[in-house]
Amino acid sequence: MRAEFDRARRVIPGGVNSPVRAFKGVGGTPVFFDRGEGARVIDTAGKSYIDYVGSWGPLIAGHAHPAVIGGVIEQAARGTSFGAPCEIETELAERVCERVPACARVRFVSSGTEATMSAIRLARGVTGRDELIKIQGCYHGHVDSLLVEAGSGVMTLGLPGSPGVPAALAELTHVVPFNNPEPVEKLLTTRGKEIAALILEPVAGNMGVIPPAPGYLKRLRELTAAHGVVLIFDEVMTGFRVHRGGAQALFGIEPDLSCFGKVIGGGLPAAAYGGRADLMNQIAPDGPVYQAGTLSGNPLAMRAGMETLDLLDDAAYRRLENLSERFETGLARAAQEAGVSLTSNRVGSMGTAFFRAGTVRNHDDATAADTECYGRFFHGMLERGVYLAPSQFEAAFVSLAHTEDDIDMTIRAAGETLKAL
Ligand code: PMP
Repeated sequence: MRAEFDRARRVIPGGVNSPVRAFKGVGGTPVFFDRGEGARVIDTAGKSYIDYVGSWGPLIAGHAHPAVIGGVIEQAARGTSFGAPCEIETELAERVCERVPACARVRFVSSGTEATMSAIRLARGVTGRDELIKIQGCYHGHVDSLLVEAGSGVMTLGLPGSPGVPAALAELTHVVPFNNPEPVEKLLTTRGKEIAALILEPVAGNMGVIPPAPGYLKRLRELTAAHGVVLIFDEVMTGFRVHRGGAQALFGIEPDLSCFGKVIGGGLPAAAYGGRADLMNQIAPDGPVYQAGTLSGNPLAMRAGMETLDLLDDAAYRRLENLSERFETGLARAAQEAGVSLTSNRVGSMGTAFFRAGTVRNHDDATAADTECYGRFFHGMLERGVYLAPSQFEAAFVSLAHTEDDIDMTIRAAGETLKAL
């Protein structure tokens, strides 16, 4: 893939259109893919891999699912964009509101970044407050105010933030550790009247997967409600993945605003933010908080999202859970047999095996993992035909296209790789 990468690097910064794709977290040259089929991706040299990246989450139905592709082709033939209302937007919005009772209204955008950016603008607009609380190691896209001690690529590259984010803006963002409500309580007691919103991933996925500790989300709900702070769940990764109604349904906590992405667009560029009617009614044109988009609610993306959500019935979530459990227990057994310390965290079909012993409950626990060891594991798996995320601080995603045989082959590859580390 060297030649492809060199060619790309001449015209694209780092040869990639999103940093984590460049393999900086594991070393080596990124694989260029030619196509995807179900649970597999095939590279430009014709080698096939079992894929656990799934485009970083959207492909819960697998690559090129016939229902999704059929829907997109049918829609494409009727026009790819109108920049005017189209009923298919309402149809997807109805599906979202039906699955997520905390969303009375939903506004579609084109990326997770736009969803979180718009949600915090709305929170600031309605509260008249400027400050935010975010969680160390949570990633919400490359929004200026949220690129502070963020996860995902920022964490993989070891960056505290990004040049280009004005200090005056970064200063408005308070960062607290995951799974500990006490610093939030302290902040709200001293600065509660200045804080517009608390945003978090209810299940962290961008420092590797970390579930919320029992009672954590509930306490955040109580604290934010008591101080008039808008609670935003960033469900870009967890939405429609960990439960038909997202992490908020799984843990029984209703946020004020929710952000969605990935699965909601079924592999095409769609994302959304939604929530309480009184808040969402403040968005233009009904209210003064401005947010817009030429391709927002794009019909192809709406159709891919609809077809994907329609595949996600109770049986689908049971299947995802069973396959993911098989993966987790098989990997734990393989690690034990190889004498390698692994701690695996999983919520439904998203999980991370951290190369360290002991529980991983927050950013500091996650960064104590042996990333070099992960890099060797990643490349061993790649050689054996398994495509994992090219960073320790990401999730592995199981899709409906994976089979028990795929999982078993993956575990065999992991057993060999772990023994050879
Ligand atoms: N929020 C979360 C929780 C995410 O995982 C991501 C992307 N990985 C984003 C926001 C940003 O989404 P996008 O890359 O579509 O802008």
